[in-house]
Amino acid sequence: MSEIEKVKCLIIGSGPAGYTAAIYAARANMSPVLYEGLQPGGQLTTTNEVENFPGYPDGITGPEMMIQLKAQAERFETDVRSGWVTKVDFSGDIHKVWVNETKEIHAETIIISTGASAKYLGLESEQHYLKIGGGVSACAVCDGFFYKNQETIIVGAGDSACEEAHYLSKLCTKVTMLVRKSEFRASKIMAERVKNTPNIEILFNTNTVEVLGDGNGVTGAKVKNSVTGEEQDIPATGFFVAIGHKPNTDIFKGQINLDEVGYIKYEQAGTSKTNVPGVFVSGDAADKTYRQAITAAGTGCMAALDAERYLAAKGH
Ligand code: NDP
Repeated sequence: MSEIEKVKCLIIGSGPAGYTAAIYAARANMSPVLYEGLQPGGQLTTTNEVENFPGYPDGITGPEMMIQLKAQAERFETDVRSGWVTKVDFSGDIHKVWVNETKEIHAETIIISTGASAKYLGLESEQHYLKIGGGVSACAVCDGFFYKNQETIIVGAGDSACEEAHYLSKLCTKVTMLVRKSEFRASKIMAERVKNTPNIEILFNTNTVEVLGDGNGVTGAKVKNSVTGEEQDIPATGFFVAIGHKPNTDIFKGQINLDEVGYIKYEQAGTSKTNVPGVFVSGDAADKTYRQAITAAGTGCMAALDAERYLAAKGH
């Protein structure tokens, strides 16, 4: 069995939240160790162009931004490691973490930045255009601008889908919303707003059969009415999916307070504290509302400052 490693600050996850936490923790002499997880760089690595992160007037690609954030964290000697945290035990004073099921680490403070994953329909055509950055997106606020004065499609019927459809309607000539049932799941007020927007067309009882394209980019979608069986092709250059997110928090079940969907609950509003002293959370693992790189980075900063104060209060 390998020796147990002791660290002052362990950061789990390598999106903007994790790297920002690392930059702050490293500059505060906390010698942070950061585990990158299964998708080094997080959700931004599947984003093409980021135009809304302040400080990049010409925009930057998601992968390039993550390379720069990593370099900045390493400049201050963050120990960035590849590895996947498979188990945690937060029952005692010392927080225990296992990496790749074998290596055991005892951490005085932990910053959880494991993020969330957008859900997709799972169609082959959808995944193809998502992977090549050819017009499939799960974030209207991030990518809607690229479809200005064009026609788009959005799938979903919850509050996110309604909010994003409304956002797109202000940029796009037409938004077609595909709702799989005969009704919205969203709150009445959000659904009403969508219904009252003239350039949003809502197709109820409608499923996506295939995302259509020319190989390089989306040109529309083939959809089917589940009641009549009728199929039709809808033209669009952007295909947005807003059918929910899954927070990457399975390993924390039973160890920390989660809400009914699995988002980590803040113990105290306005801080990054969880119900376990010394364990802090940042980014999308606790955020079902904003989900932006800049908000994740902001909460990463908060988590590092809270961790530093926690250690200082313990006399470290
Ligand atoms: P939800 O889980 O609330 O809704 C997901 C929607 O996607 C449902 O309408 C569901 O359909 C649909 N869906 C799921 N799978 C598929 C599929 N394979 N094909 C087609 N449709 C599918 O997720 P949201 O992200 O919308 O919201 C998450 C939480 O965040 C909610 O609690 C919401 O209230 C909250 N929120 C609040 C906001 C606000 O108040 N401003 C803004 C955004 C989110 P079906 O209904 O048929 O199951």
